[in-house]
Amino acid sequence: MTTIRLDGLAPLPPRITRLGELALDLWWTWNPNARNVFRRLDYTLWRTTDHNPVRMLRLLPATRLTDAARDPVFLDLYDRALTELDPTRRASGSWWSERMPALPGRSVAYFSAEFALHQSLPIYAGGLGVLAGDICKEGGDLGLPLLGVGFMYPQGYFHQRVAADGRQQETYERLTWADVPVTPAITPGGRPCVVTVPLGRRTVKVSVWRVRLGRTKLYLLDTGLDENAPWDRELSARLYGGDTETRVQQEIILGVGGVRALRAMGSDPMVWHLNEGHAAFVVLQRMREMIDRGDSFEAALAEVRRTTVFTTHTPVPAGHDTFPFQLVESHLAGCWGTLAPHRDAFLELGQYDNGAGPQFNMTALALRTAGQVNAVSELHADVTRKMWAPIWPEGSEAERQVRAITNGVHVGTWVAHRLALLFDRYLGPRWRDQRDDAIWDRVLDIPDADLWQVRQELRRYLFDFIRERGRQRWTTGGVDAARVLAAGTLLDPNALTIGFARRFTGYKRPELIFSDPERLSRILDTAKRPVQLVFAGKAHPADDPGKHHLQRVYQRALDSGFGGRVAFVDDYDLHVAHFLVQGCDVWLNNPRKPLEASGTSGMKAALNGVPHLSIGDGWWAEGYAGDNGWLIDGGTHPDDAATDAADAEALYTLLERDVVPAFYDRDNDDLPKRWLTLVRQAIRTVAPRFTARRMVKEYVEQMYAPAIRGTEP
Ligand SMILES: *Cc1c(COP(=O)(O)O)cnc(C)c1O
Repeated sequence: MTTIRLDGLAPLPPRITRLGELALDLWWTWNPNARNVFRRLDYTLWRTTDHNPVRMLRLLPATRLTDAARDPVFLDLYDRALTELDPTRRASGSWWSERMPALPGRSVAYFSAEFALHQSLPIYAGGLGVLAGDICKEGGDLGLPLLGVGFMYPQGYFHQRVAADGRQQETYERLTWADVPVTPAITPGGRPCVVTVPLGRRTVKVSVWRVRLGRTKLYLLDTGLDENAPWDRELSARLYGGDTETRVQQEIILGVGGVRALRAMGSDPMVWHLNEGHAAFVVLQRMREMIDRGDSFEAALAEVRRTTVFTTHTPVPAGHDTFPFQLVESHLAGCWGTLAPHRDAFLELGQYDNGAGPQFNMTALALRTAGQVNAVSELHADVTRKMWAPIWPEGSEAERQVRAITNGVHVGTWVAHRLALLFDRYLGPRWRDQRDDAIWDRVLDIPDADLWQVRQELRRYLFDFIRERGRQRWTTGGVDAARVLAAGTLLDPNALTIGFARRFTGYKRPELIFSDPERLSRILDTAKRPVQLVFAGKAHPADDPGKHHLQRVYQRALDSGFGGRVAFVDDYDLHVAHFLVQGCDVWLNNPRKPLEASGTSGMKAALNGVPHLSIGDGWWAEGYAGDNGWLIDGGTHPDDAATDAADAEALYTLLERDVVPAFYDRDNDDLPKRWLTLVRQAIRTVAPRFTARRMVKEYVEQMYAPAIRGTEP
């Protein structure tokens, strides 16, 4: 058995030697027993480290560990967690092993520029990363031999603070390596994995880190080696931090370096899944390998097509990387090798003119080289087919084959612990294995009083969290009193709470609800039926309009005219997201249709009994069932201003006529019966369908299976 050394960690007592290994396997984040191991170990540290067991083990006095090794309750949790972990890693009896019995030793590679796994590993910005993280977790649960490939960003994504005038402040913090759940990837030859990637005329060294998530392994590329020039060391320092030139270099590292890293680790994946266009240079490196072995360009391209799967995530043009040809050519100069005679043919695979002249487009490259392509909702698939129509000959087979695989969320990660216990009681423990969709009908049997009690508790957890954050900013953050109030410290833990948390950007219309401030004030500030709004989210560092939206929303939170009923929680991340999607009463989403490809935060909320109040865009066009939330529908209009006005009107009307009355309509026991019906329907309709379980199975059956068929003996 391999022993894992944690730097600076006190030696573990013999009875609990695998505690370090458990802390380093992010599988603990969604396994209830494993979570309880660390909660039981030291509840205060668990909270003050924002649930980071690696850091906990570093800070814990040795005596606490020796005590734990003698505590029967702790040992029972510890033993149970490890008894579950080992078979999970082997995937024995898993869905995959039943579905694909004849594929020993082959893997599925999953490339993504970001992965959101846990707040202690800040290598994600938002929805794309959360989706990638949830796929890795679910893939493991289903037993897939999944190898994720991404970046280790030692400075991560930025931390957000908001200045007194509402401007977003961005700071990058160097990671404390000893607190991060990663270890060096070790090759089959027993050496730390380091690969080289040619960039222009030079060569960059890339070291590889490993993250474990039960069955899934994730390899993270890092250019921060001393042997590299200072500017090359910075290439992987930050997520989405650089200019176009940094970006193209990062993408060469991810694609070319990622394939080389997998080879160095002895892997030969049978499926190569590209999550968004960022990793499309995988195709270049793989074609070069095949031509090295004697294949023709055409044969290599055909083989790549057979085995490449591509997921596109956004209809917004800025979400698709384009580069001037000359920039791509100069940075790829050292990458061609035996592909050099076919250089022009390869570059043509990425050529696309989006109106500004032909450029090298990463999405075009992926669309032309992946045999299986999917968009992330039904609506998004239609939009994608139209948007990229010039890529395919009209009416061609390829065009029709943009599949719709609607996103889903990882249930074990997103369901609140308190609610999970309620499900255990009324649905039976089988709900956790998600094998029987009908089990969710039993949500209808949960008594009003029990369900309401849990919903109230979850709202209170949210306000405890918000107040504690406000207190920290006040005592140590150098923040003035007005900003402490704007952070939500005046919110009422019993009032109807509407959450809006997502990236701040124009098409998501964060200010829509403020279109008519007087009408909104009347909705919010009624003595008997108060309503409050909680906002959170970062604006991309280069998105100035997004930052202006944020600033104006923040100024509403500072405005006493809204009676302390509007709040902005800063530094939105996975940790904040958990409190918000579980603790709000309503989840608001009002993008300009059809620009929200799917959206996932509303699924997380609904799963926790927080009904969705949303435009019928993305997943809600499929998810809205009439009685499980509300549809904001202002109709179609010739221009944005008219659409916005009509959608705002529809939103206010829903709030006034439906949402607020349903919440405050109480029976003699002070129970909101009508509301609880919505809560139950939200859970019952979303929990079996909009999950990573359903999504990953669809990936396997619709997209991986055709690639695998050619591989099976
Ligand atoms: C779920 C999630 C997102 C994505 O939310 P959308 O509704 O898809 O915009 C972004 N950031 C974090 C931290 C999340 O948890």
